[in-house]
Amino acid sequence: MLLIVGEQYAAWVFTVASGLSILLLVIAVRTWPRGERCRCKGKRRTWWQKCTMGWFFWRGRCWYILKGQEADSHGMVQCPECGTNSKASRLKKDGRRFKFGNIGLVFLTVAVVTGYLGPVRNGTWTRVVPTYPLVILTDTSFGMTRTDLRKEIVKRVRNGSVNGRSARALAKILAKDLRNDGIWGSASSAMSMLKKLWPDSIEALSHETMVGDGQSKALAAQMLRQRIEVPSEILLVACVSDLHDDGDVDGWEMMEGNARQAAEYLLRWWSISSQYVLEAIESSDEQQRFLAATIAGFAGSTEKREMVVNILFPHLLDNSFYGDAKIAAPAIYHLGPKAVPLLQQKLKDADDQARSILLHIIERLENPERAFNHCKNPLPKLTSRAKDPLEAPLSTLMYNFWFVKDSNGTQ
Ligand SMILES: [Zn+2]
Repeated sequence: MLLIVGEQYAAWVFTVASGLSILLLVIAVRTWPRGERCRCKGKRRTWWQKCTMGWFFWRGRCWYILKGQEADSHGMVQCPECGTNSKASRLKKDGRRFKFGNIGLVFLTVAVVTGYLGPVRNGTWTRVVPTYPLVILTDTSFGMTRTDLRKEIVKRVRNGSVNGRSARALAKILAKDLRNDGIWGSASSAMSMLKKLWPDSIEALSHETMVGDGQSKALAAQMLRQRIEVPSEILLVACVSDLHDDGDVDGWEMMEGNARQAAEYLLRWWSISSQYVLEAIESSDEQQRFLAATIAGFAGSTEKREMVVNILFPHLLDNSFYGDAKIAAPAIYHLGPKAVPLLQQKLKDADDQARSILLHIIERLENPERAFNHCKNPLPKLTSRAKDPLEAPLSTLMYNFWFVKDSNGTQ
């Protein structure tokens, strides 16, 4: 405890002393005596004045202005204030009497010594710096990951002492850390801090979903999805963009499952997300198109029904994608009875697998009371995770979803 108090004390001394030394040295340089020689030096110092080092802090002992005083034939001027005789050429230059520079040097020495003894070496100086300046420094090279400054910030965030303006400024810096910067662990540490700073981090995260790189956009959207109560337009747009195939984006391991989470989220918020999802049905990205159609299907969209069927139908075929039929089938089913004529048209292009699935879906839609295992047209086995895949929730079916072409060509 004593050690901690001592460290705290040294840290305070260091911070105050370095601050004052900088301030005083700046004042000293700016008010350096420049004018003419006109000030009285005063009487000789007494031994007492020498001992108290008054000479170190004050210029001259009298400082009376001798301007206008005539020098005698020996070039001497007598001060009317203290009576000292001084040579005119030896008078002091006009300027500040106070020796700011020397006082600044004293504080600088104190700062260097205490800094060397502790705070700088063990990083405790950061403890006494107020939060806002510390946050501003976080964005400089002093505040890189794993520096003393960063550790102090992390500590303050954990104990909840960063809020308001400081929290918002810090969130902006941390949101950039979500990008794929090649520093191991910086994104995950930023994530945990941004969670702590919630809700002050909402604005920074929303911004990052628009300006970030692939990784930070996805991570920011993920955090917002998990925490925000009602999604903003920005977040919905970010989620739709998350439906993209990002298998070739750097840092994909951080984003595992982001497309799945985004899809579930957009489905949950269909009432306000439909316009964005329906737009994405016409995307040029195959995965985004597929997921958008899936969401619209599960939501029972009345718009673009035919387009949804056209996109999902090929996934019922025994194709080279892995596990897409188990998602496409229920998506088509949830379009409801109005989709039946569209499905009947598709039967002529269907292979054995698609044909069985379509017939089962049509039978179920026309006979909603009929149980899954009492149908004339049984559903081929699509997944082991749900007994009746047509009624299973999207999250169950999308578990471990990978939109990859499987060389074995199953399902
Ligand atoms: Zn004088």
